[in-house]
Amino acid sequence: MNKYDVIVVGAGPAGMNAAIYANRAGLSVLMLEKGAPGGQMVNTAEVENYIGLGKLGGADLALKMFNHTQSLGVEYKYGEVIDIIDGESKIVKTTDAEYEATAIIIATGTVPRALGAINEDRFAGNGISWCAICDGPLYKEKDVLVIGGGNSAIEEAIYLAGLAKSVTILARKTLRASNSYIEKTEKYDNISIIKDTSVEEFVGEATLTGAKLINNVTKEKSEISVDGVFIFVGFIPKTDILSKFEILDSAGYIETNEFMETKIKGIYGAGDVIVKHLRQIATAINDGAIAAMQAGKYIEDQK
Ligand SMILES: Cc1cc2nc3c(=O)[nH]c(=O)nc-3n(C[C@H](O)[C@H](O)[C@H](O)COP(=O)(O)OP(=O)(O)OC[C@H]3O[C@@H](n4cnc5c(N)ncnc54)[C@H](O)[C@@H]3O)c2cc1C
Repeated sequence: MNKYDVIVVGAGPAGMNAAIYANRAGLSVLMLEKGAPGGQMVNTAEVENYIGLGKLGGADLALKMFNHTQSLGVEYKYGEVIDIIDGESKIVKTTDAEYEATAIIIATGTVPRALGAINEDRFAGNGISWCAICDGPLYKEKDVLVIGGGNSAIEEAIYLAGLAKSVTILARKTLRASNSYIEKTEKYDNISIIKDTSVEEFVGEATLTGAKLINNVTKEKSEISVDGVFIFVGFIPKTDILSKFEILDSAGYIETNEFMETKIKGIYGAGDVIVKHLRQIATAINDGAIAAMQAGKYIEDQK
């Protein structure tokens, strides 16, 4: 079995930056990814807030980062990690191979929770977004629908109200957000709220033009015309492989300290998958760098 100093699970920005830092620290690194390298960036139309590169397509940024890892000689393999066995040396199992490492950096990110509405997949990244900071500027002076009734939905709706012509908040039941958030919406003339309502179907041809709605109490159906939809009904951290370890919070995110260390020696978390306040490319690469440097110290201590 091949043994590495560090195995990085997930090749999003957190994982790729961790691999670069580990590689440049002279460690042997294997980066494992179950999809296309780039993580959520691959499905992001435009990234405008990554310092130094201006505005560019998410897939272009993903490719630039991946090419950077390859130009430094980071070993990359396709593989879905299905199990991790802890020990002095750690075993990482994919669907078709097993690898050994002294340290593991988990950078598996999150996936948006789905609504289950018709055409949700079809308009994903093409009218439907899960990130107001990222995609909000695409809807300047346009009509948008924000789906969700919690704090993050209301916070993002307020952010969007500063850009869009109109923002309609759609909540399945009542708003669950705290009063301070709800009161803030009252200061915006362009925010309206529809309660007890769900989306049955997203509509449009080449681009999204609206949504078919159903009132969950009266069962009355209606349709709304919008240019964009932002869904904030939560993300699911990809941590099923870690459920046997006691390093997750109640929502399934990895608990780390400021050095990205988990409670298990030699296992680190980085990026969107850890407990944190701001999930962005900039914060993901920050975590990856810290995790790799800390893994390097751990490996040195093991010698
Ligand atoms: C629509 C959208 C637009 C966004 N726009 C922006 C923006 O403009 N600017 C910005 O800063 N941020 C933006 N973000 C947020 C940003 O994309 C994330 O914060 C960032 O990608 C997190 O990086 P990550 O490496 O932690 O995780 P991810 O990017 O989620 O990468 C995790 C990787 O791990 C892989 N993986 C998962 N499980 C396994 C497994 N078991 N085995 C192997 N591989 C696995 C996944 O396939 C994935 O490639 C956006 C997010 C979304 C959803």
